[in-house]
Amino acid sequence: RPRVFSGIQPTADSFHLGNYLGALRHWVALQDSHDAFYCVVDLHAITAGHDPEVLKRRSRVAAAQLFALGIDPERSTLFVQSQVPEHPQLAWVLGCITGFGEAGRMTQFKDKSQKQGSERASVGLFTYPILQAADILLYQAHAVPVGEDQRQHLELSRDLAQRFNSLFGPTFTVPVPHIVKDTAKITDLQDPTAKMSKSSSSPAGIIDLLEDPARSAKKIRSAVTDTGREIVFDAEGKPGISNLLTIYSALSGRGIDDLVAAYDGRGYGDLKKDLAEVVREFVTPVQERTNGYLDDPAQLDKLLAQGAEKARAVAAGTLRTAYDRVGFFPPV
Ligand code: ATP
Ligand code: MG
Repeated sequence: RPRVFSGIQPTADSFHLGNYLGALRHWVALQDSHDAFYCVVDLHAITAGHDPEVLKRRSRVAAAQLFALGIDPERSTLFVQSQVPEHPQLAWVLGCITGFGEAGRMTQFKDKSQKQGSERASVGLFTYPILQAADILLYQAHAVPVGEDQRQHLELSRDLAQRFNSLFGPTFTVPVPHIVKDTAKITDLQDPTAKMSKSSSSPAGIIDLLEDPARSAKKIRSAVTDTGREIVFDAEGKPGISNLLTIYSALSGRGIDDLVAAYDGRGYGDLKKDLAEVVREFVTPVQERTNGYLDDPAQLDKLLAQGAEKARAVAAGTLRTAYDRVGFFPPV
């Protein structure tokens, strides 16, 4: 079975619909055909400042949501990144074959560091994509299910795998991005040209999986829509309504054309009301299951420790080979 690897940051108290539709639903689906490794990337989550208690809580909530969404610990390996020290150990080596200018071209770093100011932005934020490459390469992953915003980072992971292999001999599988077009970029409800984001969207712009569906309904009602009254799919000309149609279609399984036909001659208000209902139906059972996992944190931590053990068995083997190839001494 081919391998997949992907990670998600515990940078909020809930994942949002962009995370689910762009990435997590593929995580769930790929378990059927792939040997899947999924990671709550807490090392990445400290790159922009954090509070220790909040981080720990969010890592648990993240894991609980992933199990609730359908990640099956019997079939897949779900773990917390900081429990597998091989990740930063490999990242160091990859950092030494990454160009400073090459890392500086990453647009996510440019965006996020600009927001924080260059004096406050951390070196960790800068080297984040190198750690991400280590995450993926340690598991010899063939495919990486992510949203469109991660395409450039994936390209760097591929470049680093190829570079290491040609410098030191074949060691890493060169991964391919698994980006499913339809929902690869869910946009902010208040700014339909920007992506919905845990750390940069305003609360009104995000639909959180764990929020009260009445609150989601309100946000959908006040979502920015476009001029004109017609409900048509036109991502360029009508990004607001197109985003709502995308979410509606993905959650309900109804085609965009089917929805456009069904709302022919009706207003934005009707569509928004029905979409809020579709969201409520989707999130309610997810919330119940998430709470079930959170009610027993000891059991949750145990599942994660088992995941970390399985992950380490693979990661340690890859790291040993890589360290040997670069001329390091064996572990004692
Ligand atoms: P942050 O703002 O802290 O970076 P985020 O919302 O971008 O948070 P991440 O943890 O960085 O979330 O990303 C997790 C996964 O969700 C990635 O695969 C990413 O590509 C995907 N993703 C994030 N936002 C969206 C979006 N708006 N549409 C589709 N996929 C998304
Ligand atoms: Mg992100």
